[in-house]
Amino acid sequence: MTDISFSPTEIKLPSGHFLGGRLVTGAEDIAVISPGSGQLIATLPEAGAGLVDEAVRLAAKVQQESGWSTCAPRERARVLRRWADLVDQHKVELARLETVSSTRPIAETLAWDIPFLAEGIRFFAECCDKTGGEVAATSSDLLGMTIHEPYGVTGAIAPWNFPLVMASWKVVPALAAGNGSVLKPSEITPFSVVRLAELACEAGLPAGLFNVVQGTGLLTGDPLCRHPQIGKLSFTGSTRTGIAVMKAAAESGPKPVTLELGGKSPQLVFGDIPSVEDVADRIFRAFTGNAGQVCVTGSRLIVHRSVADQLTDALIERCTRPRALAPWNGEAAWSPIISATQADRILKIVSDSQAAGAESLATCARMDSGNGGAFLSPGILSVSDTECPAWQEEIFGPVLSVRVFDEEDEAFALAQHPVYGLAAGVHTASMSRVMRAIRTLKAGTVWINRYGRSSDFVIPTGGYGGSGIGKDLGRQAFEANLRLKSVLMAAG
Ligand code: NAD
Repeated sequence: MTDISFSPTEIKLPSGHFLGGRLVTGAEDIAVISPGSGQLIATLPEAGAGLVDEAVRLAAKVQQESGWSTCAPRERARVLRRWADLVDQHKVELARLETVSSTRPIAETLAWDIPFLAEGIRFFAECCDKTGGEVAATSSDLLGMTIHEPYGVTGAIAPWNFPLVMASWKVVPALAAGNGSVLKPSEITPFSVVRLAELACEAGLPAGLFNVVQGTGLLTGDPLCRHPQIGKLSFTGSTRTGIAVMKAAAESGPKPVTLELGGKSPQLVFGDIPSVEDVADRIFRAFTGNAGQVCVTGSRLIVHRSVADQLTDALIERCTRPRALAPWNGEAAWSPIISATQADRILKIVSDSQAAGAESLATCARMDSGNGGAFLSPGILSVSDTECPAWQEEIFGPVLSVRVFDEEDEAFALAQHPVYGLAAGVHTASMSRVMRAIRTLKAGTVWINRYGRSSDFVIPTGGYGGSGIGKDLGRQAFEANLRLKSVLMAAG
């Protein structure tokens, strides 16, 4: 088997903004730490309101003058498809960039993140000419119709947990719809999207149509949200920041927002599951993928008493399996926590929960990779009080909270969270129960006898309530980047 390991010192980090088709370096405002080693890997210039303004104005000018929005949609599709092909051709380079500065092990960035990124671009390329519209011939001399138009320039703000994939879900549908776009990646994981933007230009995207501005939320993100030439915002991140983004959008527009926010997703396991071992595999993957740093992490297990002991024993055994290895080691399959501070926060929620009466079934504790980085082992807490922090808060770490139930109604009631409604998993052999669960659970996605997305981009993703507004992926994400114009024509 080929060794996919590499040395992070070999990787050249594009440490700057991407403006008008080129890398713009500058001051050393922000220190960027590699989660895999805990070491400083680069410094980053931070864009203030002035540079944000330049990036947005440039995107607006290019969107107007390049013909991007007025060309045949097939032309846009061709550029996007070439972009996807370039992503495939630069798979190793992009995967390594992503691995050095994020929590994603190289085996996963190669096998999942980059192929998924390329396929996502192809999906939106196919959307370019699927704008639809209505026609109404209300009388012999009156014709009514609706047409879709791009907003002009969209603002995109992305989180750190899947830097390339999350950013692409905001920017690519906007470009496919004929907009320009200005992206602010997370200041924690700023590099890989710059290379992605360079590849877009190589594929034929007009220089300046897609710009990347680096910086923190307040200095860079807020002015981007408030810029008068931003027609629409797409944000993925925490619920608290999502509210700030929506407020800025309201005060500076109002402008429409797509918000993909936090979650505290339940997994319901009923007594009729055909195989406890299979369900244990599913539940384990669902709360430990990317060490729990996934918005849809299935962090609350609601299990029927008849299978509770068997299932928790199977999960406890699985908690002993992960090994902490640097993400650039080809054998690494377990992610570091994004920062030492975040690891401390996770451990504090666990200890607060234990102080509130939760019983530890498997201990979430620091692991030594021999290479630095903040690694945590998976933990399981048995929770009797639903007010317990581990049951209520989005931990964003590898911690599962467990509650046992006796009656189906009790399970459905426990599944509801007062704030979040991102996703839910249901594991059962009963079709009638599946039907009731689909109707009862208040979540943007319900997975039945599986947990997690498939690579089928047709099905959108997004939350209810405090988990967000609107959808990523699917034709809905594309359509959200278009506004509807009504036209009525009389014979005159
Ligand atoms: P975060 O909210 O701290 O930051 C997200 C982005 O917003 C970053 O780029 C940050 O710099 C920026 N930002 C911060 N304050 C801002 C402000 N006032 N104005 C504009 N921008 C601002 O989130 P994070 O820690 O990067 O990511 C983790 C969170 O993201 C979790 O809550 C997770 O559930 C959520 N998430 C949701 C989804 C989804 O699809 N629902 C996907 C991935 C992550």
